[in-house]
Amino acid sequence: MNPILFRGASLWDGSGAPAFPADVLIEGDRIKSIARAPEKLSADGATVIEARGRTLMPGLVEGHAHISFGGAVNDSDLGNIPPEEHVLLTVRNAKTLLDHGFTSAYSAATSKLRLDVVIRNAVNAGQFPGPRIRAASPEITVTGGLGDERKAHMYYESFGLIADGPEEIRKAVRLCCREGVDNVKLNISGDDLSPAAHGGLTVMREDEIQLAVSVARDFGKKVNCHARAAESVKRAVRCGIDVIYHCESADEEALDMLESVKDKVFVGPAIGIIYSTLYEGEPWGFMRDSKVGRMMQRTIDTTAAVYTELRKRGVRILIGGDYGFAQSPQGDNARDLKHFVDLLGFSPNEALQCGTRVGGQVMGMGNELGQVKEGYIADLLLVDGDPLKDLDLVVRQKNLHVIMKEGSLYKDSSATVPANVA
Ligand SMILES: [Zn+2]
Repeated sequence: MNPILFRGASLWDGSGAPAFPADVLIEGDRIKSIARAPEKLSADGATVIEARGRTLMPGLVEGHAHISFGGAVNDSDLGNIPPEEHVLLTVRNAKTLLDHGFTSAYSAATSKLRLDVVIRNAVNAGQFPGPRIRAASPEITVTGGLGDERKAHMYYESFGLIADGPEEIRKAVRLCCREGVDNVKLNISGDDLSPAAHGGLTVMREDEIQLAVSVARDFGKKVNCHARAAESVKRAVRCGIDVIYHCESADEEALDMLESVKDKVFVGPAIGIIYSTLYEGEPWGFMRDSKVGRMMQRTIDTTAAVYTELRKRGVRILIGGDYGFAQSPQGDNARDLKHFVDLLGFSPNEALQCGTRVGGQVMGMGNELGQVKEGYIADLLLVDGDPLKDLDLVVRQKNLHVIMKEGSLYKDSSATVPANVA
C-alpha cells in the first residue's frame, strides 16, 4: 500500500481541541505523522490528496448499532423476516453505514443470533464493505419483556432471546458466546411501545442480570443493556454492566451511581428514534397528538435533563439512536450528532467527540482508534466544509469527500487515486 499524504487539511483530531491546519501522512493502516502548519510533510513517494482546507477528522463510531434492523415499523417486524432476506438486509446495512462515514460500529443488539457475527466476519475477511464491528447477541429478555413478541397459541418469531431464571439466562449467554458475539445484550426495562411491560417497569431480576454478567465475563465478553427505569439503571450499575442504554428516568441516586463508575461505564440516550417517531412518524401512523406522541415528547424532555447532568458529571456518552426503523433509516445515524446539540445541550465539539473518541473507547480500542494521532489506526473522513460550524455536513453522504478505513481509500472524490471498494 502506498503512503498517502493529506496536504493542507483543517485537522479536527477528536481530542476536543479546535481544528488546526495540518498535513497528515498515512502509511499502511496507521497514521504515520502529523505536521501542524507552517510545518509541512514531504510528499516523497506518497500519493497526495489535496485537502484544500477541508476538515480531516476521525471516522465515526456508531455506538448503538442495529446492523440487522431495516425498515421496521413495529418491534415485531424486527424478527419477522426469513433468514435469507435478513442476511442480505444486514449486508446492505453494513455498506450503508460505511458509505455514511461510520468506520466502526458497536452493536447494541442483533435480531437473529448469528447475523452480527456473520457480517463482522465477512467484513473482516474483505468479502463485503462495512465498518469494523463489535457483534452483539440478540436482546436477551424475560417472558413478557421487550423482545418477547409471542402470544399464547400463536407461532411467532421474536427478535429477543427469551430466558427466565438463572438457569435459562446462563444457557442463553453461553449460547451467544459459543456463536461468537463480542457483546451480550440484556433487556432489563420494558419499553413504551412494548405490549406487556412499559418503559417504567424493571422486569429482569437482579439475580438474572448478575448471573448473565458473570457468565459473559467467563468468556471475556462485554455486556450492554436496555435500561429506561431508574431501578433498571441501578441494577445495571450494581451488576457491573459495561454499556447502559437510555437511562432517561434515572433519579438522583441512579445519577450518583453512574458517576461513581464513570471510568468503567458508557451510556447512550438513543435519541434518534424518539425524535423521528415524534416529528417524522406520521406516515407510519405515529401521530404527534396521540398517546405515543406524548410518550415520545416526555422521553425527549427527561433525556435532555438526565444527559445534561451526565455530561456535566463526566460520564462517557455514545451517539447512536436505534437507526433501522422505517421513520429513522440506516444511513441517517449521524443525525444523532445534531440531536445532541439541538435537544441535549452539547456543543458541536462535544457531540463529535461522542461519535469519535468515546466511540473508540467503547470499541475497546481507545489507545488506537477514534482520534487522529500518530500511531493510531487510519480511519478518517475528509469533509467538505467545517462540521464544527454545521453538523449537517457529516449527515449528508455527498459532503464526505474521502472515507478511509484502516489506511485504505473506500471513497475518494479527489480522483487522484482510484477508489478501493475492497
Ligand atoms: Zn436499540
